Amino acid sequence: MKKFLAFLLITISFTATQESADHKIETIDVSEENATKDLLPLVEDKQIKNVILMIGDGTGLAQIASGQLAVAGPDGLLHMQTMPVTGIVKTHSSDNLITDSAAGATAYSCGLKTYNGAIGVDPNQIPCKTILELAEEKGLSTGLVSTSSITHATPASFASHVVQRSMQEDIAADFLDSGVEVFLGGGVKWFHKDMRSDSLDLLHEFQNKGYEIILDKDRLSTSSSNNMLGLFSEDGLERTENEPSSKEMVSKALENLNTNDNGFFLMVEGSQIDWAGHDNNVEYLKREVQDFDEAVQEVLEFAREDGETLVVLTADHETGGMTMQRQVAEGDSLEVFWTTDYHTGIPVPLMAYGPKATEFMGWRDNTYVGIKIAELLGLGEFPILE
Ligand SMILES: [Zn+2]
Repeated sequence: MKKFLAFLLITISFTATQESADHKIETIDVSEENATKDLLPLVEDKQIKNVILMIGDGTGLAQIASGQLAVAGPDGLLHMQTMPVTGIVKTHSSDNLITDSAAGATAYSCGLKTYNGAIGVDPNQIPCKTILELAEEKGLSTGLVSTSSITHATPASFASHVVQRSMQEDIAADFLDSGVEVFLGGGVKWFHKDMRSDSLDLLHEFQNKGYEIILDKDRLSTSSSNNMLGLFSEDGLERTENEPSSKEMVSKALENLNTNDNGFFLMVEGSQIDWAGHDNNVEYLKREVQDFDEAVQEVLEFAREDGETLVVLTADHETGGMTMQRQVAEGDSLEVFWTTDYHTGIPVPLMAYGPKATEFMGWRDNTYVGIKIAELLGLGEFPILE
């Protein structure tokens, strides 16, 4: 018996060593900045005019905390950490405890659980009305900003309805009739006649509908069109000099959308925080968290001045099973450990600022966030199947 136990122990420890050998340890340089910031104050609960939903794809606590260490230092805060209300969101989908971004975004856009891969449809593949579509019907302006292709799962789930996220050509075609005023992101290949499998000239069709087609940063900065389709890369943004930052895209979107007296709904995605998690790459992660956080700064400054804007920032899921496990080099650097190259089931943080922000406190299901935003904007009771 003793021999058997010893054998068992060896087997278990061997397995554990094997496991960790496959997982990646990286270090992150800790900033000496220590830029201290105060939390924003709570805002009086008046009627909400605008909602800005910010989704850090794959952004869990470790992504935010390690980004903070790298950018603002141990005593500092990222802008997203200055939002005074915090909550926690459970992220499972209808068919899996580990969600993908399509089901994750549809929980926010339609207020219902659906299967992984579903874009704006319920588990029976019936289209569901999105916050953005209802906002359009009510006369609000709407916008989508992402650092992935604008037809990627997260933005797609707000303005299209397809049974599988890979159908990006169909998603691009769906956008044409969405009424969305501002599209800014990557993904020209899904619109361009020479790159689409059906040779459909969607760029031309958008132009015919009154959209200005914007393909580089300079054009974006001078554009003042009512409707804009800004596509700055073939697929996801590649961070070339011709591409705007998230902050520049958000600033233009706000300038455009804020001209509507009825208000607006804007969704901003930090898409590539997730991709850095899939890559188990802390340098990539730091760059993306920083880019997203600069956009958060822009949004919070707007909301603070406006006073009638609710900002909700959360994630669709965590990516990478990221942990911060050991300080090295006398605190100058931190060891980061990744447990997977896919998504995890760890609940994600939520931060809110603006009127009614406290509605988002506590442990909530992801569908609650969509349902509550629809209610606060006076869009009716979610979910609504078509
Ligand atoms: Zn992902």
